Amino acid sequence: MRDDNCIFCKIANGEIPSTTIYEDDDFRVILDLGPASRGHALILPKEHFADVCALDERIAAKVLPLGARIGSAMKRTLGCAGFNLVQNNGEAAGQTVFHFHMHVIPRYENGPVIAGWTPGKASQEELAETAEEIKKGMQ
Ligand code: 5GP
Ligand code: ZN
Repeated sequence: MRDDNCIFCKIANGEIPSTTIYEDDDFRVILDLGPASRGHALILPKEHFADVCALDERIAAKVLPLGARIGSAMKRTLGCAGFNLVQNNGEAAGQTVFHFHMHVIPRYENGPVIAGWTPGKASQEELAETAEEIKKGMQ
Protein backbone atom coordinates (compact mmCIF):
# COMPACT_ATOMS: atom_id res chain seq x y z
CA MET A 1 0.00 0.00 0.00
CA ARG A 2 1.13 3.53 -0.81
CA ASP A 3 0.14 6.84 0.74
CA ASP A 4 -0.16 9.53 -1.94
CA ASN A 5 0.64 12.28 0.56
CA CYS A 6 3.81 10.64 1.86
CA ILE A 7 7.17 11.97 0.68
CA PHE A 8 9.02 8.75 1.58
CA CYS A 9 6.52 6.71 -0.51
CA LYS A 10 7.41 8.93 -3.45
CA ILE A 11 11.16 8.70 -2.80
CA ALA A 12 11.11 4.94 -2.14
CA ASN A 13 9.24 4.31 -5.39
CA GLY A 14 11.45 6.61 -7.45
CA GLU A 15 8.91 9.38 -8.15
CA ILE A 16 11.14 11.88 -6.37
CA PRO A 17 14.86 11.55 -7.07
CA SER A 18 17.20 10.65 -4.23
CA THR A 19 20.80 9.65 -3.74
CA THR A 20 20.25 5.90 -3.68
CA ILE A 21 22.88 3.47 -2.36
CA TYR A 22 20.81 0.27 -2.55
CA GLU A 23 17.51 -0.91 -4.05
CA ASP A 24 15.60 -4.19 -4.25
CA ASP A 25 11.92 -5.18 -4.60
CA ASP A 26 11.12 -4.20 -1.01
CA PHE A 27 13.49 -1.35 -0.11
CA ARG A 28 15.30 1.73 -1.28
CA VAL A 29 18.22 2.98 0.83
CA ILE A 30 19.04 6.67 0.41
CA LEU A 31 21.41 9.23 1.86
CA ASP A 32 19.80 11.55 4.41
CA LEU A 33 19.51 15.18 3.21
CA GLY A 34 20.51 16.43 6.66
CA PRO A 35 23.22 13.94 7.61
CA ALA A 36 24.27 13.53 11.24
CA SER A 37 27.62 12.31 9.87
CA ARG A 38 29.10 11.59 6.45
CA GLY A 39 27.22 8.70 4.87
CA HIS A 40 24.08 8.87 7.08
CA ALA A 41 21.58 6.64 5.26
CA LEU A 42 17.88 5.83 5.55
CA ILE A 43 16.39 2.41 4.86
CA LEU A 44 12.93 2.95 3.36
CA PRO A 45 10.45 0.14 2.65
CA LYS A 46 8.67 0.72 -0.67
CA GLU A 47 5.32 0.05 1.01
CA HIS A 48 3.91 2.60 3.42
CA PHE A 49 3.99 1.73 7.13
CA ALA A 50 3.68 4.62 9.59
CA ASP A 51 6.08 3.18 12.15
CA VAL A 52 7.51 -0.06 13.56
CA CYS A 53 4.16 -0.99 15.13
CA ALA A 54 2.52 -0.99 11.69
CA LEU A 55 5.40 -2.75 9.93
CA ASP A 56 4.69 -5.99 8.08
CA GLU A 57 6.62 -8.87 9.70
CA ARG A 58 8.12 -10.08 6.42
CA ILE A 59 9.56 -6.61 5.81
CA ALA A 60 10.58 -6.22 9.45
CA ALA A 61 12.65 -9.42 9.27
CA LYS A 62 14.72 -7.92 6.46
CA VAL A 63 15.48 -4.54 8.03
CA LEU A 64 18.18 -5.51 10.54
CA PRO A 65 20.18 -7.71 8.13
CA LEU A 66 20.05 -4.87 5.58
CA GLY A 67 21.18 -2.38 8.24
CA ALA A 68 24.10 -4.66 9.11
CA ARG A 69 25.05 -4.99 5.45
CA ILE A 70 25.02 -1.24 4.89
CA GLY A 71 26.85 -0.50 8.13
CA SER A 72 29.54 -3.06 7.24
CA ALA A 73 29.93 -1.48 3.80
CA MET A 74 30.33 1.94 5.44
CA LYS A 75 33.06 0.59 7.72
CA ARG A 76 34.90 -0.84 4.71
CA THR A 77 34.51 2.18 2.45
CA LEU A 78 34.06 5.33 4.54
CA GLY A 79 36.43 4.34 7.31
CA CYS A 80 33.94 4.82 10.12
CA ALA A 81 34.78 2.97 13.33
CA GLY A 82 31.18 1.89 14.00
CA PHE A 83 27.60 2.80 13.21
CA ASN A 84 24.24 3.30 14.89
CA LEU A 85 20.97 1.81 13.71
CA VAL A 86 18.34 4.28 14.94
CA GLN A 87 14.61 4.10 14.47
CA ASN A 88 12.17 6.67 15.88
CA ASN A 89 8.50 5.96 16.61
CA GLY A 90 6.15 8.83 17.38
CA GLU A 91 6.65 12.57 17.58
CA ALA A 92 7.75 12.35 21.22
CA ALA A 93 10.54 10.01 20.10
CA GLY A 94 11.75 12.39 17.39
CA GLN A 95 9.93 10.90 14.40
CA THR A 96 9.33 13.62 11.80
CA VAL A 97 8.44 11.55 8.72
CA PHE A 98 5.65 9.09 9.38
CA HIS A 99 6.76 6.39 6.96
CA PHE A 100 8.85 3.73 8.74
CA HIS A 101 12.57 4.22 8.24
CA MET A 102 15.76 3.00 9.86
CA HIS A 103 18.69 5.40 10.13
CA VAL A 104 22.17 3.97 9.51
CA ILE A 105 24.57 6.52 11.01
CA PRO A 106 28.32 6.03 10.55
CA ARG A 107 30.37 6.90 13.65
CA TYR A 108 33.90 8.16 13.27
CA GLU A 109 36.71 8.23 15.85
CA ASN A 110 36.49 11.57 17.69
CA GLY A 111 33.21 12.33 15.90
CA PRO A 112 30.40 14.27 17.56
CA VAL A 113 28.12 12.73 20.16
CA ILE A 114 24.99 11.92 18.18
CA ALA A 115 22.66 9.76 20.21
CA GLY A 116 23.13 9.73 23.92
CA TRP A 117 21.43 10.07 27.27
CA THR A 118 22.46 10.64 30.83
CA PRO A 119 22.01 7.35 32.69
CA GLY A 120 19.40 7.69 35.44
CA LYS A 121 18.98 5.61 38.60
CA ALA A 122 16.38 3.00 39.50
CA SER A 123 16.11 0.66 42.46
CA GLN A 124 15.50 -3.06 41.95
CA GLU A 125 11.98 -2.46 43.30
CA GLU A 126 11.26 0.28 40.74
CA LEU A 127 12.64 -1.90 37.94
CA ALA A 128 10.43 -4.79 39.04
CA GLU A 129 7.32 -2.56 39.20
CA THR A 130 7.99 -1.08 35.79
CA ALA A 131 8.59 -4.52 34.31
CA GLU A 132 5.22 -5.72 35.65
CA GLU A 133 3.44 -2.76 34.00
CA ILE A 134 5.03 -3.40 30.61
CA LYS A 135 4.38 -7.16 30.83
CA LYS A 136 0.64 -6.50 31.33
CA GLY A 137 0.54 -4.66 28.01
CA MET A 138 2.16 -7.58 26.19
CA GLN A 139 -0.46 -10.19 27.07
P1 5GP B 1 13.01 10.95 11.67
O1 5GP B 1 13.27 12.20 12.47
O2 5GP B 1 11.57 10.89 11.20
O3 5GP B 1 13.47 9.68 12.31
O4 5GP B 1 13.95 11.08 10.39
C1 5GP B 1 13.60 11.74 9.23
C2 5GP B 1 14.89 11.95 8.46
O5 5GP B 1 14.56 12.15 7.11
C3 5GP B 1 15.70 13.17 8.91
O6 5GP B 1 17.01 12.74 9.27
C4 5GP B 1 15.69 14.09 7.70
O7 5GP B 1 16.93 14.74 7.52
C5 5GP B 1 15.41 13.12 6.56
N1 5GP B 1 14.66 13.68 5.45
C6 5GP B 1 13.50 14.38 5.51
N2 5GP B 1 13.06 14.69 4.28
C7 5GP B 1 13.96 14.16 3.41
C8 5GP B 1 14.04 14.13 1.98
O8 5GP B 1 13.20 14.68 1.26
N3 5GP B 1 15.09 13.47 1.43
C9 5GP B 1 16.06 12.86 2.21
N4 5GP B 1 17.05 12.24 1.57
N5 5GP B 1 16.00 12.86 3.55
C10 5GP B 1 14.97 13.51 4.15
ZN1 ZN C 1 4.90 6.42 2.88
